[in-house]
Amino acid sequence: MSLVAGLDIGGTKMAVALADRSGTVLDHATRPTPAMEGPDAILTTATDLVRTVGGTEVVAAVGVGAAGVIDRRRGVVVSATQALPGWAGTDLRGELSRRLGLPVAVDNDVHAHALGEQWRGAAAGYADVLLIAVGTGIGASTVLGGHVRHGAHGVAGHAGHVPVAAAAGVACACGGQGHVEAVASGPALLARFRSRSETDAAHLAEVARLAAAGEPVAAAVLAFGGTAAGHAIGGLMNVIDPEIVVIGGGVPNCGEPWWQPLRAAIATEVLPALRDVPVVPAALGADAALLGAARLAFTLLP
Ligand SMILES: [Zn+2]
Repeated sequence: MSLVAGLDIGGTKMAVALADRSGTVLDHATRPTPAMEGPDAILTTATDLVRTVGGTEVVAAVGVGAAGVIDRRRGVVVSATQALPGWAGTDLRGELSRRLGLPVAVDNDVHAHALGEQWRGAAAGYADVLLIAVGTGIGASTVLGGHVRHGAHGVAGHAGHVPVAAAAGVACACGGQGHVEAVASGPALLARFRSRSETDAAHLAEVARLAAAGEPVAAAVLAFGGTAAGHAIGGLMNVIDPEIVVIGGGVPNCGEPWWQPLRAAIATEVLPALRDVPVVPAALGADAALLGAARLAFTLLP
């Protein structure tokens, strides 16, 4: 029986899953990402994690879903956020492969997330899937015919940088303005609530609790975020024509005060033929990227 290791390298946490060909997780380990210690420390932690679940005795190949823009052909990190200083330029595949003596495949974490949900999660059984992750940023991945679409420059999936009317004039982290991420990401919603309410909230989960209890400012902020994200997602659906849309990330945990406006905004945007496309929450949570990475690893095996 061939087993693989799926690695998830995020800005704050790293995890590994030992998985079989059916997507069953046999072992699992997690460590904090030594983000401030630089890429070498991250690679060392990644290597340790793979050894934790059996190393070369057990593991036949390694798949990695990593934060940042990843050139999956070269296996190199092209660019990364400030959360991972020095991460850009890291030869992720080459270094891990050399240190472990195993074949390694890499992709970015949102694409891995989508592969995981399509394999064993909310989109299992669907071939054409649009996954949107709404969290610290907003990302997406399109799986068509079971394959992730990377685009000509490896940039496909940057759904956060789709313009929406609600973001007009608002500066975006990418250097542009008017993009949905600037107003509908988790941090943007928390900042919006804080600027409008006397109540202090340290986390978006507190805003969600207030909204669920009927607090009007919290409810309005989540409705604003859901609506903005919904307009962007509806527009993307018209371009991609997915069989199913899966929504992951932390913001969907805000519940109905976010979901209901999201669904309403999607309904106003989509073409008539797409009105019945299911829009569902991601099912696997943090395990999605791990399973997607494991599935990536199986592409390396006969
Ligand atoms: Zn942007």
